[in-house]
Amino acid sequence: MRYVIIGSGVAGIAAIEAIRSVHPALLRGENGTQITLIGDDPHGFYSRPGLAYFLTGELHDKALFPRTAHDFRSLKFNYVKGRVTKISRAEHTLELESKPAVSYDRLLIAVGAQALPLEVPGSNLEGVLKLDHMEDAKRILKFARRGKTAFVVGGGITALELVEGLVARGLKVHYLLRGDRYWSNVLDEQESRIVERRLQEEGVTLHHHAEALEVTGKNGRVSGVRLLNGQSLKCDLVAYAIGIRPRVDLARQVGLAIDRGILVNEYLQTNDPDIFAAGDVAQAYDPLSGRSILDSLWTPARQQGYAAGLNMAGRKTAYIKSPPFNVTRLAGLTTTIIGTVGRGRDDDLVGIARGDSETWRQLPDCMVAQTGFKVNRLRLLVGEKTLIGAIVMGDQKLSLPLEKIISGNLDIAPIREKLLGPNANVGEIVAEFWAGQKT
Ligand SMILES: Cc1cc2nc3c(=O)[nH]c(=O)nc-3n(C[C@H](O)[C@H](O)[C@H](O)COP(=O)(O)OP(=O)(O)OC[C@H]3O[C@@H](n4cnc5c(N)ncnc54)[C@H](O)[C@@H]3O)c2cc1C
Repeated sequence: MRYVIIGSGVAGIAAIEAIRSVHPALLRGENGTQITLIGDDPHGFYSRPGLAYFLTGELHDKALFPRTAHDFRSLKFNYVKGRVTKISRAEHTLELESKPAVSYDRLLIAVGAQALPLEVPGSNLEGVLKLDHMEDAKRILKFARRGKTAFVVGGGITALELVEGLVARGLKVHYLLRGDRYWSNVLDEQESRIVERRLQEEGVTLHHHAEALEVTGKNGRVSGVRLLNGQSLKCDLVAYAIGIRPRVDLARQVGLAIDRGILVNEYLQTNDPDIFAAGDVAQAYDPLSGRSILDSLWTPARQQGYAAGLNMAGRKTAYIKSPPFNVTRLAGLTTTIIGTVGRGRDDDLVGIARGDSETWRQLPDCMVAQTGFKVNRLRLLVGEKTLIGAIVMGDQKLSLPLEKIISGNLDIAPIREKLLGPNANVGEIVAEFWAGQKT
């Protein structure tokens, strides 16, 4: 059996681990299961969320590699550094850029997603930058070393990571927001203001109701931006994060079913039984909610890759989505987002962003219990019988208990009224409830 995986991200590597858990590696020279990984990232497999810490200088690039060469050797797979340009379903082969074709019996497409382009005049100038991968991060650092002033455009986690990385590298940063607050469809007004205040304290200039109409240039390089309100400001670089798009082109060319991502059933199988998809590129069906969801999160990508690998190797393992859980940093403040917490559109983003889940914005009617209005803040989305979601900012004592309460669908009847009471100390009520569950 020839297993081929396109994409050396976390989904692809997890799939190899799963296949090897079913077909352990044989000794050198013996015939056995053949696994081939094809990846076009010159740096191979590394932590993409870690790029934010590489930008700020808190982590060396070497710290972003979660697997050693020894780990890879023990998985016994062939690694082809290259780019797949075409899939032939009839012949079960892949065409590669300047490399021989590769044949497969079972194929996994785990090619991730890419940043949506900034579509304004001047966006092709040198110094207009995105953050998809390690090479992008290195390019940003190169421009940051030469520059003094930067503009950041976009929303969600990656836009803030760009702001923070550039501030840490000593640049004067302007952050353009189209609406009246940051990340309005995930954070509530208080939470947006906490983040914005902290950015201002770090010296960031926020421009609300602002939009870049044009990036202006000199000798092919960025020299400034022209804003919607007519202002023209000088800068040396423009970094953007306005959303991402799953890389569905390979799948589209060969008639695989696509919606926003590649559509897969609960076994991560596409409409071709020999082709699977997982990670950021997949729009995975969740049998519990009955919905097909896009995530751009490390843990779901890993879980999907692993389940896909097992199923490619003949097991029947359904991928059942747990409520999305992300521990991130917003303006230096540790923030955990669990389950469903917001709704609607955010003017700064087109669709899904990095470190984001569509589930976060599918809020049904529910009540809000909240506490803390300065730095430590806790917001709970209270359903009829269970907690639907939570945002924990600052003090993280309750983030793991809340993850367990939400993903376990624990019955909150004993505390529901108390949580919704006036001036409720929501944190204490949850802590007591959780302590009671453990005994
Ligand atoms: C800056 C940044 C911040 C993030 N922050 C968070 C966060 O806070 N929390 C969180 O949970 N997640 C975060 N994420 C998202 C997380 O990293 C992704 O969800 C995860 O990496 C997806 O894994 P994947 O394997 O599906 O795809 P990827 O990691 O994107 O890997 C896909 C691989 O396929 C390769 N490829 C593409 N096309 C081809 C082709 N034709 N031929 C060969 N190879 C190809 C790509 O080069 C890439 O190496 C962040 C991502 C970034 C970039």
